Amino acid sequence: MARIAILLDDRCHPKECQWECQAYCPPVRMGQECILEGPLGKPIISETLCIGCGICVHKCPFDAIKILNTPEADPNEIVHRYGYNGFRLYRMPIPPPQGISGLLGPNGTGKTTALRLLAGREVPNLGDYAAGGSWPKVLEHYRGTALRAHFERVAKGELRTVLKPQYVDRLSEEPISVREYVERGGPRAAAVLEEVGLTARADRKLSDLSGGELQLVAIAGTIAADADLYLIDEPSSYLDIVHRLQVARVLRRLGETKSVLVVEHDLGLLDYLADQAHLLYGEPAAFGVITHPIPMRTAINTYLTGYLKDENVRFRPEAVRFVSHPPKPTTRLNVLVTFPALEKEYPAFHLGVGVGSVAKGETVGIVGPNATGKTTFVKMLAGVEAPTVGGVAPGVTVSYKPQYLKATQAASLRERAGALSGDPSFDGKLFERELVPGLHLDGILDVALTDLSGGELQRAAVALALARPATLYLLDEPSAYLDADERMSMARLIRRQVERQAVSALVVDHDVYLLDLACDALMVFRADAPDGSRGRGDGPFPMREGMNRLLSTVGITFRRDAETLRPRINREGSALDREQRAAGEYYYEAP
Ligand code: ADP
Ligand code: ADP
Repeated sequence: MARIAILLDDRCHPKECQWECQAYCPPVRMGQECILEGPLGKPIISETLCIGCGICVHKCPFDAIKILNTPEADPNEIVHRYGYNGFRLYRMPIPPPQGISGLLGPNGTGKTTALRLLAGREVPNLGDYAAGGSWPKVLEHYRGTALRAHFERVAKGELRTVLKPQYVDRLSEEPISVREYVERGGPRAAAVLEEVGLTARADRKLSDLSGGELQLVAIAGTIAADADLYLIDEPSSYLDIVHRLQVARVLRRLGETKSVLVVEHDLGLLDYLADQAHLLYGEPAAFGVITHPIPMRTAINTYLTGYLKDENVRFRPEAVRFVSHPPKPTTRLNVLVTFPALEKEYPAFHLGVGVGSVAKGETVGIVGPNATGKTTFVKMLAGVEAPTVGGVAPGVTVSYKPQYLKATQAASLRERAGALSGDPSFDGKLFERELVPGLHLDGILDVALTDLSGGELQRAAVALALARPATLYLLDEPSAYLDADERMSMARLIRRQVERQAVSALVVDHDVYLLDLACDALMVFRADAPDGSRGRGDGPFPMREGMNRLLSTVGITFRRDAETLRPRINREGSALDREQRAAGEYYYEAP
């Protein structure tokens, strides 16, 4: 076993604590220099002197320390290490000269780091963080391997790489137009704008675009470049199902002649997009190991099973299970919430939603393209926006998790929950016993909300929303910023809570696997005017009908994987695709 001691730099506030890590450390108390003050005024934890007792982990008021006892990883396989108590990455993906490879693994296990190293944005230090990386050392280390050939070309500046960044919202700060941005990317700008459907919006300023539009711009700017290797970090964020598939097709076309490496958490999309994937396992923020490439279908099935046979690694205690048939339509006798026909009139947008009802214990997915009014509908039910026509029935208590989250308080989740305890509108017991473990929040209870990553904040916000006793839970895009594993545990948790408490939930989301696992019924939104000035929402429909309504408008069919029963997107025009379209069964087998 190897001992790994990690200090999470951004969470460590050595001026605001009593150095509890050092004060309570048994070896320190015995006079050993196990925890010292480093040159930057933060603790340095010796991995050789540490006895693995975990006292510092519990005493740290900011949850800034991780101590792990893990099976010995081969130090020769370290590619990069961020500092003494920093994250370490083992092994690298090797992109083939053509085709699309995926990187699939939990947040914080080194996917972005791997992309940056492959692109030569940072020189791998092979674990020697003190000396830093140098190309001669890297080339010597990888002598005789395919990676050497790759790094040699990078070092000589002969491999042209381009990287689509993960955080596209930052683009909105650039004072330029869509066309200017994409032209800066490379010579294929005009063709690429057309491919991703941005031609009509080419003269808009980046600052005026929605998240989904910025994502398309970022992708367009990346593939406009004339490069050898395209590194694409999370292309699906902010995109609806239609745009996810459109982007997948564009990237597949690129992969016919170029080498493309994609990080993606939407499993349905990754499955369709890539030919093979490298899985990552490890401990978030501590270490990550990248596996050899696995053919796409097997890669996702392995991921869902939770066990990597080749390396004898279990990354989840149990397998994720799908069922191939639709859930039984709920009986309408059990109706818990009914809403009347609603309309909302904005200066440039009109939304109409038909009468609907949600049954006890039912989770309803809300699906459809962006800008068709899904968020507006949820806000009307939440009482955040007043409907122009129709009123929401009184007597329904709602709990709402908005789409965009922004932490404004320096308070931690524990402090937040503590302040709410005793409040009848907060179920502290449920929070502590079910939601904290279910959403894996134990390790971040003491971190200031403002210090949480996007995925951590999302899980915290969902936990706080579900801890509020209500009849109707409204969750707007709970999968945003979550990795695939977190999405699936989120789906199961929502479903379980709703069933157990005999309440209802409406969940806006674009991830088909999350919807499949969580939902009993679907509301379907669509554009109701060619210029996007009107939106229309209907339902809830039983899953089969809802999926058929959604997928028939976008022309996508799914089949089921024989082994895991997970949904898989059919190749356009394949025999199955044609057969299912003809039968009008886009998602489930004919009854
Ligand atoms: P992923 O893309 O899988 O979410 P990243 O490669 O972004 O993972 O990061 C892995 C870990 O490496 C993070 O948890 C973070 O703690 C650490 N890390 C990333 N970049 C740096 C950096 N520049 N300096 C120090 N640590 C870093
Ligand atoms: P979705 O959730 O389906 O992406 P939204 O409900 O967010 O759609 O938005 C639907 C349309 O309503 C968009 O065209 C948006 O610009 C418009 N809209 C949303 N909120 C407002 C507002 N407060 N004022 C004016 N227009 C708005």
